[in-house]
Amino acid sequence: MSSPVYDIIIVGTGPAGLGAAFHLAEQTPSLSILMIDREKICSGGLLNDCKQNYTYPIGFAAGNWTREEAERLLPQVEKWLQPAVKEKQNLDIYRRRAERLGVTLLDVRQAHVGTDRSRVLIQRLLDELRRRGVQFMLQKEVTDVFDDTEGPGVVIADTGKVRARKVIVAPGRKGFSFLQQVMERMGITYIDNVVDVGIRVETSVGNYPIVNDYYDPKFLFPDAVRTFCTNSGHARVVLERYQGFSLVNGHALSEEQTGNNLANFALLKTIGLKNPVRSGQQMAVFLARLANEIGGGKPLMQRVGDFRMGKRSTAETFNEDLYDFPPSCPVTAGDLGLAVPAKIMRHLWAAMKKLDTIVPGVLHPSTIMYYPEIKMYANKPAFLDSHFRVSANVYMVGDGAGTSRGITGAWASGIRSAEGILSEQQDQY
Ligand SMILES: Cc1cc2nc3c(=O)[nH]c(=O)nc-3n(C[C@H](O)[C@H](O)[C@H](O)COP(=O)(O)OP(=O)(O)OC[C@H]3O[C@@H](n4cnc5c(N)ncnc54)[C@H](O)[C@@H]3O)c2cc1C
Repeated sequence: MSSPVYDIIIVGTGPAGLGAAFHLAEQTPSLSILMIDREKICSGGLLNDCKQNYTYPIGFAAGNWTREEAERLLPQVEKWLQPAVKEKQNLDIYRRRAERLGVTLLDVRQAHVGTDRSRVLIQRLLDELRRRGVQFMLQKEVTDVFDDTEGPGVVIADTGKVRARKVIVAPGRKGFSFLQQVMERMGITYIDNVVDVGIRVETSVGNYPIVNDYYDPKFLFPDAVRTFCTNSGHARVVLERYQGFSLVNGHALSEEQTGNNLANFALLKTIGLKNPVRSGQQMAVFLARLANEIGGGKPLMQRVGDFRMGKRSTAETFNEDLYDFPPSCPVTAGDLGLAVPAKIMRHLWAAMKKLDTIVPGVLHPSTIMYYPEIKMYANKPAFLDSHFRVSANVYMVGDGAGTSRGITGAWASGIRSAEGILSEQQDQY
């Protein structure tokens, strides 16, 4: 039997991996911990924008969390991330308008770092872990995870097998196909996960002034539609590249930077396929590929003015005088109607109209709708316990494994896996 090299290996240095590492290193400093990431620095939301939501259920995947469990762990997340929580104003006015339309506006405790400042935060976190003895292997891809008769471990490209006593796998949303392969190879039962499909809306701050009162307003509309990840100040829509297609997303710089007077936010519809079900994630991939096909290899964008008139946006007309701001992400001007399934578009548009009554202006003809913004998760592993254990010695956490949908939820998920390891191994470490 080959002996393990580390007590714990953590795949992924995103918030889920960091949450686990901080908890393990703090509670049992003698543990040898290795964190592996294929990037130089953690990717995802910690690196981009880094809005932190400290109110359940934002960022917590339904089904895996109760309010009590989330509220027990959020103070621990806060302890390490040290957020500067933002003030909100005029909430009652917007809430009253929303309630009349059957829409809920959540009051969420929020902090925002900004893409230009997030590296400073990440560096502080990694330095703190290094000071506590955690080791890092960066720019190394994990190609497989195993848990055989000799115990668990990972396979690292160009390095080979490395064993540990326990392995936490936290590869995020971009790692969803990797996680899927690992689950299939290890024989881990999984169930189809929900998928979020929607648009990113971009407009001038003047057309969406609520952002001056509430940085990232969380509206819940009928038909499982919600606003998500609002950015303002110096805000941009960006491309997220996957294998064979691109999606849109958004981010903003910190308040230290001069504003570009734009705001953007996602409007997402959650879809859970039921009988018959093949794969919601595969459906999302097909939708993304279709949009990129129509867009000549890029996502699509359409001005609200064109959409209302039932005509496509074109490169020539996209910057007409009425359209008073240029897009921050130059993707293909076209027709969303060709790419978005009718039922999804109907629900998104109904939500847009309600939003325009709550915050008049957002349906200005110049407002841009970008598509596709899609949040894919791996199919949900059938967890063996409440600590997200999937085999005797392997845990799967974070957005990829469907235990979270944001930075704080991912961090809290990591803590839960760490608690599982510590409670099980009390006698050994
Ligand atoms: C552009 C963008 C902006 C976002 N903004 C916000 C925001 O402002 N607020 C918010 O709450 N959420 C935001 N999110 C979502 C947020 O990033 C996620 O909810 C959160 O990061 C999930 O944490 P995680 O640890 O599960 O995964 P991630 O943060 O994605 O981390 C996973 C890590 O695993 C690594 N990895 C993956 N596969 C492998 C492999 N095979 N081998 C080695 N390493 C691997 C990746 O490189 C990555 O560093 C944003 C996401 C994106 C993409």
